[in-house]
Amino acid sequence: MYNCDKARLQNKIDTFSKFGDTGTGGITRLSLSEPALQARAEFKKRCEDLGMEFKTDDMGNMYTVHKGEEDLPAIVMGSHLDSVVNGGNFDGVLGVLTALEVAETIVSEKIKTRGPIAVMVWTNEEGSRFDPAMMSSGVVTGKFDKATMLNSKDKEGTAFGEALKASGYAGAEKNRLNADDYAGYFELHIEQGPVLEAEAKDIGVVEGVVGMINYEIDVKGVSDHAGTTPQKTRKDALYAASKIIIDLWEKLGKINPELVFTMGRINASPNIHTVIPKEVRFTLDARHKDPKIIERAAEVIKALPAEVAKCQVSYRQLWGRKTIEFNKDYVAAVQRAADGFGYSSRKIYSGAGHDAQYVADVMPATMIFVPSVNGHSHCVEEFTPTEAALKGANVLLNAVLEIDKNYRGR
Ligand SMILES: [Zn+2]
Repeated sequence: MYNCDKARLQNKIDTFSKFGDTGTGGITRLSLSEPALQARAEFKKRCEDLGMEFKTDDMGNMYTVHKGEEDLPAIVMGSHLDSVVNGGNFDGVLGVLTALEVAETIVSEKIKTRGPIAVMVWTNEEGSRFDPAMMSSGVVTGKFDKATMLNSKDKEGTAFGEALKASGYAGAEKNRLNADDYAGYFELHIEQGPVLEAEAKDIGVVEGVVGMINYEIDVKGVSDHAGTTPQKTRKDALYAASKIIIDLWEKLGKINPELVFTMGRINASPNIHTVIPKEVRFTLDARHKDPKIIERAAEVIKALPAEVAKCQVSYRQLWGRKTIEFNKDYVAAVQRAADGFGYSSRKIYSGAGHDAQYVADVMPATMIFVPSVNGHSHCVEEFTPTEAALKGANVLLNAVLEIDKNYRGR
């Protein structure tokens, strides 16, 4: 078993925490913003200092390669450097920094690998500046249309394509992650939930990403004067929506203890304090690893009555995704690496979306989770102690080395 270096990892975390520092313990590092470009430059410099070859593709994804002894496809580790507004110092960036630490360990310890070992950074994973999330992994794996993505605009009206061009990181399409040049993908990430910490586990051996559905429910009533309309005759869309939300909450809650569901967005119109709401729209997001459970959640929505409290009820599916299963050999390599160090671990599914789920469609892929203190993420409280991150880096290093040894030429 090989070990990464704690002081070196700490230095990486401290250095990258400066790019977009909000002064409150977190960062705002929106994709292709000035702080994000500083982080990119630092990443590039550190890779080149290790003697690694650096290139970018046409979505600005960055790749850096350490050559192996044979001419084989590379095993690549990666994640993202962008954050949400007032995000933390670990979501995404920890996956990049542990990957960099793994590469640095391989270089400095002169560990021989059969094939090349690569580190990559995805552009615009969060989608906080340019919609959608996981934009560039989506383009590279054929989920999204590139021209549409280049046109995606931020709040100031700047298109992603313009920001990419100005950044200087736009490269050639032939440099994209592809199944000829790359053998498989590992992504270390913070759990972003409380399970590992609650169960005192060092490592989450990620088996896949849970499937989900997202619906919009529309409730139509009638607007009237708040002072002159008797309660009895009202068609109050917000009152009807409230009844529906409580009803959905109770019915969905009985399906399965691991089903998670969220009514996260609600809009009432006209949203004026002296007018009865005539229309309410709200979203429902439900997630579970078992497609049958997801189907039962969808049935609850489809069984909504057409009329509630004299208001008309309709629904439509906005989007959904199937449960993604990661590659069994890669998952097993992560498990063996964790066991080899004597780290405690548990199998887990990711409830959040990650670039790895798109990559899993085109080549073997998996993820490694490390604990999030109090389960916090996408906020300045987001924290993973360096000791815990180091365990993740050690597992990443040894899982990559095992795959390099045993599963080449798949
Ligand atoms: Zn992330």
